[in-house]
Amino acid sequence: MEPFKIGIVGCGGRMGRMNLAAVAAADGCVIAGGTDRPESPVIGSDIGLLAGGEPLGIAVGDDPVELFAKADAVIDFTSPDASRRHADLAAQAALVYVIGTTGLDGEHQAAIERAALHAVVIQAANMSLGVNLLQLVTEQVARALDADYDIDILEMHHRHKVDAPSGTALMLGEAAAKGRGVELDSVACKARDGIVGARPRGEIGFATLRGGDVPGEHSVIFAAEGERVVLTHKASSREVFAKGAVKAALWGRGKPAGLYSMRDVLGL
Ligand code: NAD
Repeated sequence: MEPFKIGIVGCGGRMGRMNLAAVAAADGCVIAGGTDRPESPVIGSDIGLLAGGEPLGIAVGDDPVELFAKADAVIDFTSPDASRRHADLAAQAALVYVIGTTGLDGEHQAAIERAALHAVVIQAANMSLGVNLLQLVTEQVARALDADYDIDILEMHHRHKVDAPSGTALMLGEAAAKGRGVELDSVACKARDGIVGARPRGEIGFATLRGGDVPGEHSVIFAAEGERVVLTHKASSREVFAKGAVKAALWGRGKPAGLYSMRDVLGL
């Protein structure tokens, strides 16, 4: 079988560089190319060097149209507005599109869902095996425990992260709400400040920490009178997200168009 050609948009970013290195290290695929914003300092750099390896003779470009035309799959960890544009290109190219960007609003999400009518779209706010297992366990624990157990989700990320709560925290909140049989939007409290009063029964709360170089830590806390259950995941490197993204791209080869999750990829 021909090697699968995977393109990386936003390849100068923290995750973009990791994604390049993960494609270079994986069997069965090659780097089709990479793009970044036209004003990014990485435009014109050799992609192999950006990935921390040997030069590959492929320069970082600024034209996603060209990249989507020559790739079999594209991995996108950029920004919500950039991902909306990339989703339209994925639909036109009808390829495998792996999207890890977080902080999407309803309009961004609608563009992803439109793309999934034509492309194989794999979307996850967290591409690691551990967090996808945590999501499953969170749903089960929330189903087993009643509202005597207050649920809060605590997360910490590096100081550069722009969205809060993290996409992963929201994904865990959705899992807890699903286990409880409620809509997250009707019970979520995304921040507390001032005299907010006693905690309403059934609330699912979020707390956000930012600092240093933390790639991502999440705890789901179930607190009752007399005991607490705490489920925690700590990523010590971004490599787990990049490996998951490449695994998702390879899994998508030959699949029918549609919107898939990492749980589909991992068979969870
Ligand atoms: P980053 O700021 O380091 O990288 C983003 C890159 O995208 C930058 O190089 C930027 O120049 C580039 N970019 C922006 N607009 C672009 C455009 N129009 N065309 C091409 N490139 C463009 O950020 P990061 O830490 O790498 O995170 C990126 C996103 O991935 C965030 O939304 C983050 O929350 C998410 N993330 C998801 C996972 C996951 O497993 N799903 C894991 C880590 C991060």
